[in-house]
Amino acid sequence: MPEVISSATYKARKVHSCDYCEGDILPGEKYTRDVLIIDDIYHWKSHERCGVIANQLIRSGFLVADDGITEEMYQEAVRELYDTFVENPLPKPSMEEITKKLEILFLTHDLKEHKPKGYVEGYLLEERREQNP
Ligand SMILES: [Zn+2]
Repeated sequence: MPEVISSATYKARKVHSCDYCEGDILPGEKYTRDVLIIDDIYHWKSHERCGVIANQLIRSGFLVADDGITEEMYQEAVRELYDTFVENPLPKPSMEEITKKLEILFLTHDLKEHKPKGYVEGYLLEERREQNP
């Protein structure tokens, strides 16, 4: 598991690139800057929403992040979540459209393992009981 040295949220003053979805972080948008150690030191910038989605992917076990998550792993996983959980999906959504839809879902739902017989058969969205403000 990568060691997080620091993590802070900023408001972008210039255009940055998100290390998860590879999209632009536009001026005025919130983004997260993490400093991680995985053998070496990494600086990781991401949209706030991509950080939220990545947390869901890791917490649920959907992605195993022993050596950190690469942008390929992330993008493949969010495409899969989008196809599975978003109603009326667009035919060819952009990463921005995908992550914005998933961000809305994760405001009220958590990604959970579905294991009715004790082993993981898939993943589902479970509505959160206590609402985070
Ligand atoms: Zn992003």
